[in-house]
Amino acid sequence: MAEFDYDLFTIGAGSGGVRASRMAASFGARVAVAEDKRLGGTCVNVGCIPKKLMVYASHYGTDFADMAAYGWTVGPRSFDWATLLANKDREIARLNGVYGDILQRHGVEIVEGRARLLDANTVEVAGRRVTARYVLLATGSLPFVPEGPGCELAITSNDIFFLPKQPERVLVVGGGYIAVEFAGILHGLGSHVTQIYRSELFLRGFDDDVRTVLAEEMRKQGIDLRFNVNVTAIERRGEALAATLTDGTVLEVDQVLAATGRVPNTRGIGLEEAGVKLDAVGAVLVDDFSCSSTPSIYAVGDVTDRINLTPVAIHEGAAVATTLFGGKPTKPDHAGVPSAVFSHPNVGTVGLTEAEARRVLGKVDVYRTRFRPLKHTLTGRDETTLMKLVVSCADGRVVGCHMVGPDAGEIIQGFAVAMKCGATKAQFDATIGIHPTAAEELVTMRDPLPPPELAGSE
Ligand SMILES: Cc1cc2nc3c(=O)[nH]c(=O)nc-3n(C[C@H](O)[C@H](O)[C@H](O)COP(=O)(O)OP(=O)(O)OC[C@H]3O[C@@H](n4cnc5c(N)ncnc54)[C@H](O)[C@@H]3O)c2cc1C
Repeated sequence: MAEFDYDLFTIGAGSGGVRASRMAASFGARVAVAEDKRLGGTCVNVGCIPKKLMVYASHYGTDFADMAAYGWTVGPRSFDWATLLANKDREIARLNGVYGDILQRHGVEIVEGRARLLDANTVEVAGRRVTARYVLLATGSLPFVPEGPGCELAITSNDIFFLPKQPERVLVVGGGYIAVEFAGILHGLGSHVTQIYRSELFLRGFDDDVRTVLAEEMRKQGIDLRFNVNVTAIERRGEALAATLTDGTVLEVDQVLAATGRVPNTRGIGLEEAGVKLDAVGAVLVDDFSCSSTPSIYAVGDVTDRINLTPVAIHEGAAVATTLFGGKPTKPDHAGVPSAVFSHPNVGTVGLTEAEARRVLGKVDVYRTRFRPLKHTLTGRDETTLMKLVVSCADGRVVGCHMVGPDAGEIIQGFAVAMKCGATKAQFDATIGIHPTAAEELVTMRDPLPPPELAGSE
């Protein structure tokens, strides 16, 4: 008889858990995965996918307006929130099924229910106790709403995907990418949006030019963006909500969306009993191979709070499966991870910001251009695109590539490959551009900006 019921028991069938489970099974391991909500996790159900569908929806308003300059006449138009959400729900249900099929096809047993560790090799789920040689924690993260009077009246990103009615007036609280994206989505769909953030500028961690340019572009579109301000209280006022801000302003809105961060989902799942150590924010502490302080327990994805993105969780899950059952110890590679903000316009970014590069590498050259996209020469829309390269002076490598503009995520993905290969600015210069595109600017910028100590001295 086998010593354990399973070789791997995964808790959480989201991005990381599904990939690790099906790969482990394809290596011949006996695998089960527990899920207490819906297959696919945050990304599929209340994250990347439904959000991107809503981003698409939000772009049609400006597209209709821009058409006239190209000779098109569009008849009366209106937007129906309920239709969008119903169509989105249908697609998500299809994806839930796809995830179930993938797991079943690979021979992974799906256990519906909330799992909890009893010790380093025992899990309790759906009224049973099972043992496993290895347990993988892939429980993701949860929205965090700071305590305060009326905080229970705010909704989070988990709720916005299921609101029965589009809010006419929304207050978005927060300065991370989720806050920025929902401000753009709701504005694009016709809501009146105020976004507030407690510090000087949103999107901390992104390049400063990107942050400044995006804030300018969002304000030009009519989003009421306010920095250095926070909410102190929310009260119900009839059908509406009254949000009091730190500067004394009271905003009357229909919804307050708290996009105020996320916390690792590590509470109440028996981690103490199993001896799994957490860091100060409650994330599972792991080594380079994603192994926790308990040798039989591994963790991947948002629960470890490394880089909280779907492709990273998938990559970490694949690395664990390969390490444990593929006969090849594999560390996930967290270098040069590109990312996008699906704001309007998009942000795409990979590598170091200018400030990081100056701190880490000392001398860097910076190439930057800002221009009106060709499309808007006819529409007259006041929207600009930003392209920026940061280049190491020591070896000529491009160490940062940043963009604000249409399709930035699509464009930066390709440049991320070049940078992963160590491409130099000279190699960028030697690459012929595709004309006429915005992306060609990234291979045609020839003159670096004057170094900061000389800037403004002319
Ligand atoms: C609004 C939003 C937009 C996002 N947009 C993007 C994007 O555009 N691009 C991108 O790359 N990333 C995006 N992300 C981040 C991305 O969704 C996460 O990084 C990713 O889903 C993390 O995967 P994971 O496997 O760690 O956890 P998850 O996908 O969250 O999966 C965890 C699963 O574990 C289950 N679970 C938890 N506890 C238990 C338990 N005790 N028993 C059983 N099951 C349990 C949960 O129900 C869940 O299904 C977004 C996130 C949000 C919230």
